[in-house]
Amino acid sequence: MALEDIRIVLVNTSHSGNIGSVARAMKTMGLSKLYLVNPACEVDSHASALAAGATDVLGNATIVSELSDAIAECALTIGTSARSRTLSWPMVDPRQCAKKLVEGSATGPVALVFGRENSGLTNEELQLCNYHVCIPANPEYSSLNLAMAVQTLTYETRMAFLDGQEKQPDEDDAVYPSAKQVALFYEHLESTLNDTGFIIKQHPGMVMTKLKRLFNRARPEDQELNILRGILTSINKSTRNK
Ligand code: SAH
Repeated sequence: MALEDIRIVLVNTSHSGNIGSVARAMKTMGLSKLYLVNPACEVDSHASALAAGATDVLGNATIVSELSDAIAECALTIGTSARSRTLSWPMVDPRQCAKKLVEGSATGPVALVFGRENSGLTNEELQLCNYHVCIPANPEYSSLNLAMAVQTLTYETRMAFLDGQEKQPDEDDAVYPSAKQVALFYEHLESTLNDTGFIIKQHPGMVMTKLKRLFNRARPEDQELNILRGILTSINKSTRNK
């Protein structure tokens, strides 16, 4: 378990003050890896002012253009949402989220993803996540300021971390594939289903979204994903031979 393996990912943030406040929120809870996906503002003096003693976290932030780049090596990604969406996805509460992040960080990097101030995360971005977490705030006004949401969830993460330090490590030693490996599997699956004619290119419908939800729910382990890739390759060979 290592707090430095827990990434905080901010997507398309528009206020630099929020980025600074997030850096401060993270450092107070012992987290240091900040990822900025296509920020809509500069990391300027306003950000530094609000980061206060956490300008190191700000200075070490990694800037990438796509969410998939920020989570590529992560075997666990949890997305945040202030409201429920049309497509239901496995949900966890902040304490379950914290426990999963802390346990997941024992074997490699994991990510907690936050959305835009005005519109949150898109459905496409949320579908790149294994779970969604919602802070159960006042149902009549449930949208927290971005940095406050980071503070709340990183506080829970710290509590789970401190709790875990007192206990023996879990027996679960399953190895899960990274987001990049899962994305490659989905590409392979989609191209195979196009080749066999199961997906009609002009009318793909919701097939891939539903299949992604199915595999996300099952959460195949590393070896299981290799078997699935092998099955697809065998289908590819037999369709090519026809
Ligand atoms: N209007 C946006 C809210 C954006 S708030 C929407 O409807 O989605 C900015 C970000 O703060 C969100 O994308 C999320 O990452 C986080 N956030 C705010 N309130 C939250 C809550 N109650 N639970 C989880 N995350 C929350």
